[in-house]
Amino acid sequence: MTDQTNRSNYGCLYVVATPIGNIEDISLRAINTLKEVSLIAAEDTRHSQRLCQHYAIGTPMISLHEHNELARVEQIAEKLAQGQSIALISDAGTPLISDPGFKLVRELRNKGHKVSPIPGPSALITALSVAGIATDSFSFFGFLPAKSSSRSQKHQELVNRVETLVFYESSHRILASLIDAAEIYGNRRAVIARELTKTFETVLDGSLSELIESVKQDDNQTKGEFVLIISGQEKSKQEQKFDSKQLLSELLKELPPNKAAKIAAKLTGEKKKDLYHLALELK
Ligand code: SAM
Repeated sequence: MTDQTNRSNYGCLYVVATPIGNIEDISLRAINTLKEVSLIAAEDTRHSQRLCQHYAIGTPMISLHEHNELARVEQIAEKLAQGQSIALISDAGTPLISDPGFKLVRELRNKGHKVSPIPGPSALITALSVAGIATDSFSFFGFLPAKSSSRSQKHQELVNRVETLVFYESSHRILASLIDAAEIYGNRRAVIARELTKTFETVLDGSLSELIESVKQDDNQTKGEFVLIISGQEKSKQEQKFDSKQLLSELLKELPPNKAAKIAAKLTGEKKKDLYHLALELK
């Protein structure tokens, strides 16, 4: 718990969401806040200049990016203590979501400063809103690793998760990334949401292999910014997996792994090879 008492004269850090493409996707409160604060801390001041010019926001800006974030804390804390309010923005969407700001917010909160959100777009929520994949439960993993082997390892860790899986992916890796995902998740339903709210917005859905084909056939589908959404494992399959594990454990008390796997495969309909590997793990 941090102490927020006797701070009524202090300013506030507003964490302000900005558009992820279409410049009109910004709230009136966000525009007014950006006009009224003493200072805007922006990930890239040149990039954010366009937004400020469009909405006639004349507030001075300083840069706040992953390399100077901690160094800015004292400077920002001092201004807040003087009663000035400050807005934090990133290049696109909600700051802190795969963007700088987490360390600043953590440090300011630890010092007892007021931090308040001005909500708006975020690519992951925007993508989920049109994907048609279950949203009652989902996990967001940010950017997938750049190396194929690390990506596959990440997917392997997640293959039994039942909730919807959401990732950010870059244009030069989208095809390789889909191919890696298909090897682990098989033909699960997935969505690639590209260039959301922009001119070339495309939302492709289908099995992972269908998506690979669509991307291979149209080079444009590898351009721009992407959210990749993969449906979670069907609950029935998870329950079945649990049953196979129980069944194998019992069979292994009486039989060697290959025989136990053979019988378990007959009873569950699962692949003998997979069950054999599971049997070796259980042994
Ligand atoms: N802070 C942002 C947010 O709230 O979504 C995310 C910033 S992160 C550095 C940029 C990544 O978000 C892109 O590489 C892409 O994966 C995703 N993204 C951002 N804008 C997008 C858009 N218009 N369409 C699809 N994906 C987008």
